[in-house]
Amino acid sequence: MIQDIAPSRLDNSFKNNSIQPEDTALFFDKEGKLLIHENNGKLSFPKGSDAEGFETIYLFSIDDTRYFLVTDKEAHIKNDFNYRSVRDLRKTGSGPEIYAVFTAYHLWKWYADNTFCGKCGHKLSFDDKERALRCKDCGNIIYPRINPAVIVGVTKGDCLLVTKYRQGYGGNALVAGFTEIGETLEETVAREVMEETGIKVRNIRYYKSQPWGMAQDILAGFYCDAEGNAEIHMDKDELRYAEWVQRNAIVLQENNLSLTNEMMKVFKENRIKF
Ligand SMILES: [Zn+2]
Repeated sequence: MIQDIAPSRLDNSFKNNSIQPEDTALFFDKEGKLLIHENNGKLSFPKGSDAEGFETIYLFSIDDTRYFLVTDKEAHIKNDFNYRSVRDLRKTGSGPEIYAVFTAYHLWKWYADNTFCGKCGHKLSFDDKERALRCKDCGNIIYPRINPAVIVGVTKGDCLLVTKYRQGYGGNALVAGFTEIGETLEETVAREVMEETGIKVRNIRYYKSQPWGMAQDILAGFYCDAEGNAEIHMDKDELRYAEWVQRNAIVLQENNLSLTNEMMKVFKENRIKF
């Protein structure tokens, strides 16, 4: 999965670092496209020296590579880098670099959406002690937003409930959805499966989780069993495909980045042990 970068390691602790010429500088445009160079799936980024004169903030490190976000909205550089969408990079990117892209996008989106205080309307400042935005006028503090969501592998004997979303990612997927106010993750699982496919489930059990910065999510994966005859009544606003697919006929995604793909693969290879 995208976060499985061992022996490399993400250090997400906040530090009030200043950018140095050898550091990595991430330039996002207004739509969240990232300035990047790609060669056969290998991603490379501008350096700190390219960001000279622009406002930056430290994001995180992976091993000895320190990543900074260029927060100056007018920043741009001329060289052989191109602006590419994170969705596009998902298809070919790999290793620690694609994990860095997703995690940086999450933070870029949070900074971009929080220029002004939601309480009093004044401009927010970067806090220098923790990863937070602070309103010097009213004292409001804003922390990064992480949206909880579930990924659900619904099984019926030798079949898995495979879906395709109406919007966004086009490949095979599982039932997925955001947790709503006042709800446990297990309740989200039961509600989302019912809403999207009309199927009642039981024996809901947790599998693994995954940070999915592209959507500012933390994903929690669950398997569960379908109840009764498990006839599918698809929500056509959310999905364009929902079918029971035999284990050996499941078509996996183009790479191993997502929790969804791992869960489909584990079922396909009959490796669910709980
Ligand atoms: Zn304020």
